[in-house]
Amino acid sequence: MPTFYQCERCTACCRWPGQVRITEAEITAMAGHLKMDETSFIERFTRLRPDRKGLSLLDKENGECVFLDGTSCRVQAAKPQQCRDFPNLWRFPGFESKCHANPVEIQDEEEYRRQIMEATGRQQINLL
Ligand code: SF4
Ligand code: SF4
Repeated sequence: MPTFYQCERCTACCRWPGQVRITEAEITAMAGHLKMDETSFIERFTRLRPDRKGLSLLDKENGECVFLDGTSCRVQAAKPQQCRDFPNLWRFPGFESKCHANPVEIQDEEEYRRQIMEATGRQQINLL
């Protein structure tokens, strides 16, 4: 029986260290959401990834994502797919000790698929 993880919006995943990878389309969307031009967005909010294959969001000095504002995401409506996909389409061993998402067992595979698509905003999904 598949388990759907219902996000409890604890924001822990916006606070732990790591790379929030972003695509060009996501830069366009986030810059538009913030009513900024893309060059200014890139200069102000992004960094080169360690593998130099693209950009990630900057962290604040305390390690939080640059867009975390209290318990809200400043780019919520346009946030990166990587953020939307966690923890249903990617997760790491022991993530349950840090993420407070509520595990819900779903009986029906189609219903599970529907919930994942709604949570991630994806039109197509490859289930774990
Ligand atoms: S972009 Fe938003 S959801 Fe993603 S890590 Fe940053 S604050 Fe969290
Ligand atoms: S995915 Fe998990 S860690 Fe992130 S906000 Fe939701 S419950 Fe918290």
